[in-house]
Amino acid sequence: MHEKCGVVGISLDGREAARPLYYSLYALQHRGQESAGIVTHDGFQQHEHVEMGLVGDAFDSDNLAALNGPQGIGHVRYPTEGGVNECCAQPFSVSFKSGSLGLAHNGNLVNADEVREDLAALGHAFTSAGDTEVIAHDLARNLLEADLVRAVKSTMDRIHGSYSLTIMHDETVLGVRDPQGNRPLCLGELDDGYVLASESAAVDTLDGELIREVKPGELIVLAPDGAGYDSYQLIDAPQTAHCFFEHVYFARPDSIIDGELVYDARRELGRQLWEESGIETDVVMPVPDSGRAFASGYAEAANEAGAETEFAEGLMKNRYVGRTFIMPTQDERERAVRLKLNPIKSTIEGRSVTIVDDSIVRGTTSTQLVSLLRDAGAEEIHMRVGSPPIVAPCYLGIDMASREELIAADRTIDGIEAEIEAESLSYLSIDAITEALNRTRADLCLGCVTGEYPYDVEGEATDRDVTRPSVGRETSHGD
Ligand code: SF4
Repeated sequence: MHEKCGVVGISLDGREAARPLYYSLYALQHRGQESAGIVTHDGFQQHEHVEMGLVGDAFDSDNLAALNGPQGIGHVRYPTEGGVNECCAQPFSVSFKSGSLGLAHNGNLVNADEVREDLAALGHAFTSAGDTEVIAHDLARNLLEADLVRAVKSTMDRIHGSYSLTIMHDETVLGVRDPQGNRPLCLGELDDGYVLASESAAVDTLDGELIREVKPGELIVLAPDGAGYDSYQLIDAPQTAHCFFEHVYFARPDSIIDGELVYDARRELGRQLWEESGIETDVVMPVPDSGRAFASGYAEAANEAGAETEFAEGLMKNRYVGRTFIMPTQDERERAVRLKLNPIKSTIEGRSVTIVDDSIVRGTTSTQLVSLLRDAGAEEIHMRVGSPPIVAPCYLGIDMASREELIAADRTIDGIEAEIEAESLSYLSIDAITEALNRTRADLCLGCVTGEYPYDVEGEATDRDVTRPSVGRETSHGD
């Protein structure tokens, strides 16, 4: 399961933006490893470097030096199903009659085909199948008839789905979050400018201060001289649809989302997991690294409740099995678990074990882990999962799996328990998620665990009124 993208936008007071953008992309590397790109503007023209590969491989000193200008945007991307797709690497940049545009997109539109067809009928020619180009064309067209803010609003009225965008129009950098705020986007302050980024960890990397999240439906316009920003609340949606998996899995634990440190949210989810389905065992261990915060919260709550359980590492990760290890087939995925994880026998042998992970997607890893622990001498193996069963795919920007590949799509929890051959298996409930995140169901996207989506996805059910959100006030105020 992979986040598909991370985005960043920076405007500085004179200093070149390329290096800060590069460092920010490093901080967001976990959100996409297939391609990396930066587009800057020097006041006269755009400069662009987009390449396949990790951030460290995509840039060298020469091409960073050629990215002139104190403003810019950047993007890291994970491939869609089917692998490498060079044409969709971002930022997408192009020059129109209305000026130059660069766009970096995290999310997925649900009406991109419809908008593309309309624009094609008006004579727009597309070079990629991606929805980011659709947004770029629509915005470029609107910029011919309206100022920047009205043009963005017209595009937001037209496109539907999940998007956090950083945009550069000539030397102006913008950040936009979809009206339901599905994917994160935050605003930070630097000594000499401002930064927009998918996660606050990127702001930290630049020694900046997190100001706040960009609000759902909000446009942030950074001043070209790095002196400030303007906020425009362009659309007020009656409900939000934050992706709960950002808190569970995708975001870095050291990022702050919705005012809460992701690490703390995961520990609280682990505590809830103990409350709901705790079982006393000799040892509680995480699946590294994804289960660590959950397992620590779980073990802490267990010991507070009087259980005498040790919290220990029982599986060591081989950190050098890198992203180049591509695992397209089931057989290779099974082998990968043995390459990546090695059990610590002294923690496991002759003991009852609770192993804690954040989620189960296909079930391959869980089956292999139980087998590894059994081979290492565990007497009992209980698996606890810090999210509900994933029963449906994600259409909103996460590379998850098809319905057929999801182990929980057509099995009961008892059936999965039998398949992975654990003594017991329990997942966290949706109610525990909403409680731990301090949200109602109506605030969150829970599509992959309920099969009901907050957007009108063709052929799928929805959990709300998905008529387009009301068009809200258009306000303009510096803050
Ligand atoms: S379907 Fe799941 S992974 Fe996708 S946005 Fe919704 S909660 Fe997140």
